[in-house]
Amino acid sequence: MIAAQTAGTMFIEGTFAPAASGETLPVIDPATGATTGAISAGGADDVDRAVRSATDSFEGAWGRLAAADRGRLLARFGTTIGQHAERLARIESQDTGKPISQARADITAAVRYFEYYAGAADKLHGETIPYLPGYAVQVLRVPAGVTGHIIPWNYPAQMFARSLAPSLAVGNATVIKPSEDASQSVVELAKLGAESGIPAGAINVVTGLGETAGDALARHPGVDVLDFIGSPEAGTLVQAAAAAHHARCILELGGKSAQIVFEDADLDAAVPAIVRAIIQNGGQTCSAGSRVLIEASAFDQVTQLLAAEFARLRIGVPSSDPDVGPLINGAQFARVRGYMDRAQRDAVGLLARSTRPGDLPGGGFYVEPTLFGPVHERHELACEEVFGPVLSALPFRDESDAIRLANATEYGLVAGVWTENGGRQTRVSRALRVGQVFINCYGAGGGIELPFGGFKRSGHGRGKGFAAMHEFSTLQTITQKFA
Ligand code: NAD
Repeated sequence: MIAAQTAGTMFIEGTFAPAASGETLPVIDPATGATTGAISAGGADDVDRAVRSATDSFEGAWGRLAAADRGRLLARFGTTIGQHAERLARIESQDTGKPISQARADITAAVRYFEYYAGAADKLHGETIPYLPGYAVQVLRVPAGVTGHIIPWNYPAQMFARSLAPSLAVGNATVIKPSEDASQSVVELAKLGAESGIPAGAINVVTGLGETAGDALARHPGVDVLDFIGSPEAGTLVQAAAAAHHARCILELGGKSAQIVFEDADLDAAVPAIVRAIIQNGGQTCSAGSRVLIEASAFDQVTQLLAAEFARLRIGVPSSDPDVGPLINGAQFARVRGYMDRAQRDAVGLLARSTRPGDLPGGGFYVEPTLFGPVHERHELACEEVFGPVLSALPFRDESDAIRLANATEYGLVAGVWTENGGRQTRVSRALRVGQVFINCYGAGGGIELPFGGFKRSGHGRGKGFAAMHEFSTLQTITQKFA
């Protein structure tokens, strides 16, 4: 077992800190269900200390740095993460249950976020505006101040990097509240940030429960912008709490993303990509392609190809690097099994289910990847985010029916369009109410450079790319009369 060096601590004012209350929460290994350690159960007092630490840093050492110097420190931080990649990947894999190669890819992505935003730190230009004669107007993009970050358990190290790197690049100081289900890599990363020379207080970590530590961060009047990544339900609570002190919120919530497969699609490319997009991280990915919409004339052919891929998938303990590891915890396991059991109760067609090996640890949270179809468009499997390795296949009649179905959920995060017809690629993409569309690919290349976020219940605001730096900055207009 790889023990996190920082186990049981938070990170405030550039140093490790237990919760003021001394309370802890257990760390459960998803692969076995066993308790393997503890994290601090931070509360309002700890959040207050962390926000004051961030405020001091913003008004002090961190806030006074030139943009190029911030960039240099972020670049060094990225390099340091890379030097500790294998250890971080093992902590992440054990904490979340994700297959080890997935965890390695996550740490590579974390490095890339710091690399990208290190280069962007001194390129956040403002503008000038032609105004009245004798007046000069500059519009500056200034840091918002202190930013709060509440992240989920599915990609803790990646989310740390995705959420904090653009905010730090702009010049803000940060407080992050990771998920109570997977906090360890985040505390480790904060420590590596300090070792890379990031001044004390620019990065603070408060671990603990959402309804206590998370709520206290969302309510804290010292937080200027909140970046929340998680479920729509918690996002609503965070936005309501932040409204009391008028903090801006970026909400990156869930999805029910559609892969739209037309009869003329290149199925050799489409089928493996569609399977990857639902089994990656055990389907516990906001952008999981959890619905496959297939032109009716190709429905049987495509679902047979998908079923053959599902039959080949390997389930196993994370360290054996299977295709699919355990889900994060007992609650998520029960939730996903509930969707599967109700689908069978409702006589939804079962097209494929992967084989469960006999040697899985008894207490682990393993769910077999499953393909259902045809699923009725109003069945819960076609509308709700399952957040597990469960794919729903739905037939469509023609292009307009495909667009209607794709837009028929409350979510609007990502879509994939699979067709060789160029006009159709553009027509369909532009008609989709989603934040990202992939044509003949899906989730290509990690997408660190590509603005990401939702329509509708999937949230608002954009992470990734330069767009994230705009979210974490504020426009300041300076008008000077010079004549
Ligand atoms: P969650 O909403 O339960 O928890 C997310 C975070 O919010 C955790 O840190 C949690 O402690 C905190 N939290 C919970 N209640 C809170 C409250 N009342 N006040 C403040 N903070 C609170 O989500 P989860 O179960 O950890 O993650 C799964 C969800 O996250 C899925 O819906 C998934 O789609 C979504 N997600 C979205 C994205 C995205 O970028 N769009 C990425 C990953 C996950």
